[in-house]
Amino acid sequence: MNNPQSCPACGASNRCSLADPRTAAQACWCYSVSIAPEVIEALPGEQRNKACLCPACAQVLEQLQAANNVSAG
Ligand SMILES: [Zn+2]
Repeated sequence: MNNPQSCPACGASNRCSLADPRTAAQACWCYSVSIAPEVIEALPGEQRNKACLCPACAQVLEQLQAANNVSAG
């Protein structure tokens, strides 16, 4: 159950680039957003620093969409 590519909160793919050898050299999406500390603190301690949250559970979908819009403009 401790798959580093699965979100510990909902089990969906967290799209972490570091967890995939093919994209490990690329910066993860989480580098370009700021995740609220309370979101991290809501996780059980043993799950922190084990697997990334997915963008939805990290509550950063709006930030990712904003970043995409900026780069396109
Ligand atoms: Zn999730």
